[in-house]
Amino acid sequence: MISANDRVVRMVYTRTQTSVIRSHAKWNLTLEEFWEVWRPHWEGREKRQLKLMQRDERLPYQIGNVYIGSLRARNAAYSKLSRERLRGRACECCFGIDFQEIYQRAEMQGAHVDHIVALALGGKHCAKNLQILSIEQHLIKTAADMRAIALARRGRGIGNRRLLKPY
Ligand SMILES: [Zn+2]
Repeated sequence: MISANDRVVRMVYTRTQTSVIRSHAKWNLTLEEFWEVWRPHWEGREKRQLKLMQRDERLPYQIGNVYIGSLRARNAAYSKLSRERLRGRACECCFGIDFQEIYQRAEMQGAHVDHIVALALGGKHCAKNLQILSIEQHLIKTAADMRAIALARRGRGIGNRRLLKPY
C-alpha cells in the first residue's frame, strides 16, 4: 500500500513543486494533499501521460484548483480553443480557465462535448456554453442545430448549400 511518504511520491511531489514555482505559479499543496489528489490515478500514470493540472491558471495550485488530467485531452482542448480564438468565437470570460477537464470527462464517458448554442449560431466557445452529451443525444442535437442553421441562413438569403458543422 503506497502512502504519501513513499519515496517515489515524495520525489514526484518535490519535482512538481519545483517546476510549478519555476513557472512563477503559486504552490499551496502539502505532500498529503498532493497524494490525496494523485492516489486514485497513481497506477499507470506514466503510460497514460497523466499530469497534475490547474483548473484556473490565475489561482494557486491548491485543493479545489487542481486535478489529474491527461496530456492528450489537454492538447485536444487547447487546439480547439486556439482555433476558435482565431475565428473570433472564443469568449473573454473564461480566459485562463482550463477547458480540458470537460473534454476529458466526456472522453472517459465515451460521450461528446457540445456547444449548447452552436458556434455557427453565434454561440461562444465558453465553459458556460459547453455540455456533455451521449453520442446519441449529440446526434439529435446536431440535427436540430443543422435545421436551425439552415433556417437562419435562408433568412439571410444564403441558402443551405454549405452548412457549417455546429460544433
Ligand atoms: Zn467563457
